[in-house]
Formats: sequence, C-alpha cells, structure tokens
Amino acid sequence: MIQQAFRVFGDGAQLQGRSDLSVVHDSSVGDTLLTGQWAHESLESARRISASIIKELQDETEVLDLLTGIREPAEQAVERLTSPVSVAACFRFASTTFQGLRFLRLVGLAQFGEPDLLVEIEDDIREEQVLELMGHLGHYRLTSNRRLAPGEAIPYGYWLLSVASERLYETFPRLPAAEELAQAYQLAIEWGLVLPPPNFLIEAKDPQRIGEDDWVVGASQALRVLDLQRDAHERIAAICEVDVPFCEPAFSQEPVMLCSRVTSTDDFFGHRMVLGPDGTTGWQFGCHDPEHEHDQTTMAFGVLAQVANTDHRLVQYLGLPPGWSVSREKDGFWLNPPGEERSFKDEGSAERKPWCRIEGNE
Ligand SMILES: [Zn+2]
Repeated sequence: MIQQAFRVFGDGAQLQGRSDLSVVHDSSVGDTLLTGQWAHESLESARRISASIIKELQDETEVLDLLTGIREPAEQAVERLTSPVSVAACFRFASTTFQGLRFLRLVGLAQFGEPDLLVEIEDDIREEQVLELMGHLGHYRLTSNRRLAPGEAIPYGYWLLSVASERLYETFPRLPAAEELAQAYQLAIEWGLVLPPPNFLIEAKDPQRIGEDDWVVGASQALRVLDLQRDAHERIAAICEVDVPFCEPAFSQEPVMLCSRVTSTDDFFGHRMVLGPDGTTGWQFGCHDPEHEHDQTTMAFGVLAQVANTDHRLVQYLGLPPGWSVSREKDGFWLNPPGEERSFKDEGSAERKPWCRIEGNE
C-alpha cells in the first residue's frame, strides 16, 4: 500500500478531492488535510497525484508533508513530489537523544504503510556514518521494493542487518520502547497524524551464524567495518569511494564465487569483477594452487562472510571497487590495482577485528 498525507496551512478551501485523495477542511483553524491511499499505484505516481492537487495552491502557502515531516512552500512541495524518487526527495532524517542513548530515525517509510526505522548510535560512532547507512537503507527500500520489516535480512557489505520484532524488548531491557521514542521525535516534528511506532535496526552478532538470538541492537559493527575499509583506501591511496557491495536493485542471496579450497588454504586471492546486472558483489575468491583449475566444478556461489571469516583482516579490503585484486600471502596482504601489472604489499594492514570497538572492548 502507498499513502500520502499533507496539511495545508491556512489555505486550500478551493481544493477539490478526488476518488483516491480526500480533502478535508478544518474550518476551526482554517487548515486543510489531504490524505490518499493507493493499493496499486507506485510511490512515484501517488506523489504525482498529490502534487497535481497541491499545485492549485498559492506558491507560498505552507504545506507539511505529514509522513516525512518536511514543511515547505507549496511551490517547493510540487517540485519535490514530481522529482524522481530518491532518498533526498522522499525521506528525512531526524536525530534525538533519549534516556542518554542517541538515535537516528529514517522518516518517511509510512509512505509504504510501514513503520519508520530507528537506529541506536553508540558513543564511538559518528552521526555522519549512521546518516550514510540510513541513506543506503532508504535507497534500498525505494529501488528494491523490499520491505524494511521484521525478519527481512538486509545485506550490508560483509554484514547482515535486519529489523527487530516485538521480542526485542525482552532481549534488551535497557532499550526504551519504540512508543516512547516516537514521542520524543513527535515533539520535534509536530506530526499531525498518529503513526505506528518505529521499528529498530539490528545487526548480526556474527554474520556467519544467525539464529534467533544472534542479533544486537544498532549497526555499529557494520559501521566500524566500513570505517576500516575507508582507512584501507586512504592508506593504499586507492582513488575511489568505498564501494559497499550492498543494495543492488536485484540483490542476490549468493553474491560471491568461491573456490572449494578457499576456506582451507593458507594463501588465496580475491578479485572483484565488474558488476553484472544480477547484483552480485563481483568478488571471486580462489586458491593459489596452479593445479587447481577454477571452473564450474570447483567454483560455487557463497556469501562474503564465508571467506571473510577465514581471516578477519580480509574484511578491510572488501570495499575495494571492481578491478582490484587482493592476495593473502605468508608475509601479509598484497594488492593489485586495476590495469597494473605489479602488486604491492599493504604494510599497514590492520590487525584488529574490524567490528570491535576501537577502545578494544570486545
Ligand atoms: Zn582453487
């Protein structure tokens, strides 16, 4: 289901409702409420329908998008609602501190009839890191058409994220209830609608072992990994963005090609191929044994965590973009940039487990 809702301040008496979008005038305050629900329209077309009505207002009339909390003049609202769907046009981020804990909320999932998403930010994590992650998740929701709902696994690079169900409160008693947190945000945004309390983002304790209780609140481990990948790029002067193998439109459940010996051999290499339309990560890993031919009989699909768990130091290189190769030798990690014949040794390879707090508390 797709829904839209707007409050028009002090104007809108001339607006006429349609079969799919209702217009209610509140004569006591002079405001107008527009609400619509669509079972079969895309978000894009629902937004366009809303824009076609808002367009009839005076350009400077204030309009509050009740599902994102964005307040803007009608002219800007029309421009935003008719622009291509993107994180910037469809969502908003809000941060708050509640009972000494920091949270960031991805606001706007109610457009899909889903609760918003909250992530707890631990002390050693910067808010920009979380903003970027939440932006990825918003993009994932817009492009993959997968719900950010409890039970859905969301791959994030080497990591696995998910959304918590009600059971979370029994497992993590220190966490405030989502209703209380929703209240904390509501005061800031002045929502005009009652929306379901948000869900919490959680992450796997260990991406290779995922049982019902193998989750923790937040996304700090995934973000520390991403940070370490950025450090590696800086150190080896890779002139490229960290390319998180994640959120491709057609996300594949089996995003890596692995040689059958790769998890049992001392030396192995990884090469990141150019991404195909299938949305795989592009990574292929194999042993160095020249006798072991890498073909259909020896190569199989696997997940990044399988090979990364053989050596946690490998994780820092997994964000390298297509064209790069990494090789684990007896003396450390060797890297080969795209189009270059010679490899070089990464002298600064980080030893610590990339998902642990920098202070060293495990
Ligand atoms: Zn092999």
